[in-house]
Amino acid sequence: MRKTELSHPDSETQSRYFNALSEALGADGIAVNYFERDPGMSIGDCYHRHREQEEVFIVLSGTATFDTADGEISVETGETIRFAPGEWQRGWNRGSERLQVLALGAPREAGPTDLRRECPSCDQRTPVIVDESDTEVIFYCKDCGTETGQYT
Ligand SMILES: [Zn+2]
Repeated sequence: MRKTELSHPDSETQSRYFNALSEALGADGIAVNYFERDPGMSIGDCYHRHREQEEVFIVLSGTATFDTADGEISVETGETIRFAPGEWQRGWNRGSERLQVLALGAPREAGPTDLRRECPSCDQRTPVIVDESDTEVIFYCKDCGTETGQYT
């Protein structure tokens, strides 16, 4: 048995907070990740699908809005949503309050994952090339080479 906290006391001072809990819990078969996001921020960096991993998001506070193949889906405080392997999604905080969400994934390793981002040149979501260094991550459109995002 292992017990841990979802967040640290100083999490609220950060506009985006992430806590990977699988390790602390010793969870072998399931990924347990806790996110806090200020309004306007996304949960993940890309519209994506995991080919082998299913994911469940439990909204503890605020509203999570997911871009999906069926359009936008809002998940309110106290609600939960499941994405089967192969289903596209990207979660956002498009509400006015801070979002607190617990994400569960099984199996624990995400495995093969397809990433897409909105490309202004192609005017659609296109596959992504990720250029990752120690200090920053830059995304490029795989189809035309346009930079589609940068994170530090
Ligand atoms: Zn493009």
